[in-house]
Amino acid sequence: MNLNQKRILITGGSRGIGKAIVERFAEEGAHVLFTYKSNMASALDIVDVLSAKGYHVHTVKADVSVEEDCKALLKHVQDTLGGLDVLVNNAGITRDTLMLRMTINQYDDVMNTNLRGVWMLTQVMLKPLLKSEKGKIINISSVSGILGNAGQTNYSAAKAGVIGFTKALARELGGRDINVNAIAPGFIKTEMTDQLPEEILNQAIQQIPLKRIGDVKDIANAALFLASNQSDYITGQTLVVDGGMVMPS
Ligand code: NAP
Repeated sequence: MNLNQKRILITGGSRGIGKAIVERFAEEGAHVLFTYKSNMASALDIVDVLSAKGYHVHTVKADVSVEEDCKALLKHVQDTLGGLDVLVNNAGITRDTLMLRMTINQYDDVMNTNLRGVWMLTQVMLKPLLKSEKGKIINISSVSGILGNAGQTNYSAAKAGVIGFTKALARELGGRDINVNAIAPGFIKTEMTDQLPEEILNQAIQQIPLKRIGDVKDIANAALFLASNQSDYITGQTLVVDGGMVMPS
C-alpha cells in the first residue's frame, strides 16, 4: 500500500473530487480525516461505507474560510490522527459571472474559500507537518488559474494565486523535507461542472485531445502519486490533469 498509516487531512471530502481522494487514500492504507462544510449526511455516509471495509476514516465539519474553524481543526487532527503527514487543500467553490456583473461578495466568497482558506489552514497545519518524517502538501488549483476563463475572473485569480502560493511555500519548506505541489484539474465531472450548460461542456470536450471530460478518479490518482513517496523529488510543481487541454511550454 502506497500510503500505509500515513496521517492525512483532506478538505471538502463530502463530494466530488475530495470524496474520490478520501476513498483512494483510504484504500491505500492511509488514516484519513476529511472535512465538510454543510453536507453532513453525505460525509457520515462516506465514513460508514469506508469504515465497514475496515478503513480508517473520520470526518468533521469545518469551513476553511473561517479562522476559528481552521484552528479548531488542529485539535481534531491531533485527537483523531495523532499528527499529520499529508494535507490536501481541496475545498473550493465557484461564483461565476461576467466581470461587469460580478459583485464584491461573489469575489470575496471565492477568494476567502479558494485562496485565503488554503493559506490559513496550511499555516495552522504546518505545526504538525513539520514534525512529520516526510510532509506533503497538495493544493487543488485549476486550469482556469493557468489559462484564465471568461466568467471566472474571481475563480481564475484565486486558482492562479494557489499556484504562486505553492511555489513560494515549496521554496520555504524544501529544507524541512516537506514537498508542496498543486494539481490543476481540467473539466472533471462533479456537481461543480454539472452547473455548466451542456453546450459549454460539449464545446470544451472538442478542445480536449483525449476527447472526454475527466473522472474524479483521474484527480485522485494524481493526488495519490503526490502524496506517496513515489514523488519525493518533486516540489513546487503544478500537475495538470486535463486530458491534454493545456500543454504548458
Ligand atoms: P464540489 O463537488 O462542489 O465539492 C466541493 C467540496 O468542497 C464539498 O465537499 C464542499 O463541502 C466543500 N466546501 C465548499 N466550500 C467549503 C468551505 N468554505 N470550507 C470547507 N469545505 C468547503 O467541487 P469539486 O468539483 O469536487 O471541486 C473540488 C476542488 O477541485 C475545488 O477546489 C475546485 O475548485 C477544484 N476543481 C474542480 C474542477 C471540476 O471540473 N470539477 C476543475 C478544476 C478544479 P459540502 O459538501 O459540505 O458543501
